[in-house]
Amino acid sequence: MEVIKLNTQFKQRICLNGHQITDRVTWNDTTNEFCEKCGAKVIDSCPNCKNKINGYLQIDGVYDISAYTVPVPKYCKICGNPYPWTKAALEALDEIVELSELSEKDKQTLKDSSLDLISNTPKSKVAALKWKTFGKSLLGIAHDVIVDVASESIVKLIYGG
Ligand SMILES: [Zn+2]
Ligand SMILES: [Zn+2]
Repeated sequence: MEVIKLNTQFKQRICLNGHQITDRVTWNDTTNEFCEKCGAKVIDSCPNCKNKINGYLQIDGVYDISAYTVPVPKYCKICGNPYPWTKAALEALDEIVELSELSEKDKQTLKDSSLDLISNTPKSKVAALKWKTFGKSLLGIAHDVIVDVASESIVKLIYGG
């Protein structure tokens, strides 16, 4: 006799600024709420293609007691568009660069590298070096944005620790 296993895919709820509310609400949940940290609207699907944001996957028969949390994704895996919090972070970095007193050339260098800085690409480390070199004076003010969205190794590379 065949045993049919049913896995349960939960979805995530994340505010527009990227604060994760939970990584495990049921697929059909329709709660409307706002983020307790920043007051922004909370979403559970891609604003572009409407596909749900995958959260925790419960494997049938496996009792998982770990405190593992599914990370907040930066891009929609169905349509490839950046999620609102990724866009917001990029815009924030652009503004920080724009308001600085760097030369136009350095500004452009930093703006061109900010996407690599917050995404996981082969160029992420180079982008981090560019920020450390040309954007040194901006690292303080950009700290919160970078820590929120860049990968852990990139944050370490920039800020040490
Ligand atoms: Zn929030
Ligand atoms: Zn999408």
